[in-house]
Amino acid sequence: MPLPLVRESVLEKLQNVGRLFNKIHPDWRLVVTEGWRSLEVQTRKFNEKYRELENIELAHRMIAAPVVAGHPSGGAVDVAFFDIKAYDVARFCAVRRRVVAF
Ligand SMILES: [Zn+2]
Repeated sequence: MPLPLVRESVLEKLQNVGRLFNKIHPDWRLVVTEGWRSLEVQTRKFNEKYRELENIELAHRMIAAPVVAGHPSGGAVDVAFFDIKAYDVARFCAVRRRVVAF
């Protein structure tokens, strides 16, 4: 599976945030779990959530409606912060295989 794709400008910002975060919290890691996704994938994910919840507003809170979604433009990323003392980030990355840790 490919690593998350993000705009170069977004990557630079993520790296800056990751570096700052590591200075403040040396035991924490910023992990990018999702980056660019095609409009087709965004639409499928949104439709699946809408079918599951049967409520368009709730579905939109979980997966952005395709007309306004940032992922298809490469401008949205999903991230998580991990405390490496409490969670094995390397193991999470190995299992997910589509993440980048800073
Ligand atoms: Zn997202």
